[in-house]
Amino acid sequence: MTHTPAFSVCVYCGSRSGGLPAYADVARQVGTWIGQHDGQLVYGGGNNGLMGIVAQATADAGGRVVGIIPTALQNKENTRTACTELHVVDTMHERKHMMAERADVFLALPGGIGTFEELFEVWTWRQLGYHDKPIGLLNTEGYYDGLLSFAQNSVDAGFLSDWQMDLIRSGAEPIALLRELVEAAGFTPASKLNQL
Ligand code: AMP
Repeated sequence: MTHTPAFSVCVYCGSRSGGLPAYADVARQVGTWIGQHDGQLVYGGGNNGLMGIVAQATADAGGRVVGIIPTALQNKENTRTACTELHVVDTMHERKHMMAERADVFLALPGGIGTFEELFEVWTWRQLGYHDKPIGLLNTEGYYDGLLSFAQNSVDAGFLSDWQMDLIRSGAEPIALLRELVEAAGFTPASKLNQL
């Protein structure tokens, strides 16, 4: 019988590990917290970079890992065949659609343009009312300071409103941010460790 996880976190993050140890560190913390709270990770299905780290940490802590990867990227992104559920899909659109559908909350960690694109897509979908799932931006070591200040420029320039900015919760502390997102989605995360 398939175990139903307490909640599902879609994590967008780098297919590389970045230049600071803190990036891998937060990916590990995020995966561990998801696993320890009986959560499920939904992500791009690869083994590379922060993506591989968050998946491994989730699995190590006993969480479910749902990987969704397009056929054409299987080699490039080094498919994690050990996912609890692995979906090999035909297109990037299918991947993104399935990731969004399977998520209760979205969290972007440091990453490159793939991560930006995914973050912006769920942000724009949220502002248009296509979903109402909480979105978080993990600003590790100020990685996203530039992006946040650019978005503030857009507010100042009249292209963006404060309410649209408020659709994203940003923070530097991974566990506090994760908890905030999961609670905002209506769940009460409980540590499996306390239940032993
Ligand atoms: P990056 O942040 O560039 O390292 O990429 C992180 C992940 O985003 C990788 O799994 C990429 O395949 C994925 N990605 C790249 N482009 C897109 C896109 N247009 N839509 C969704 N995911 C993408």
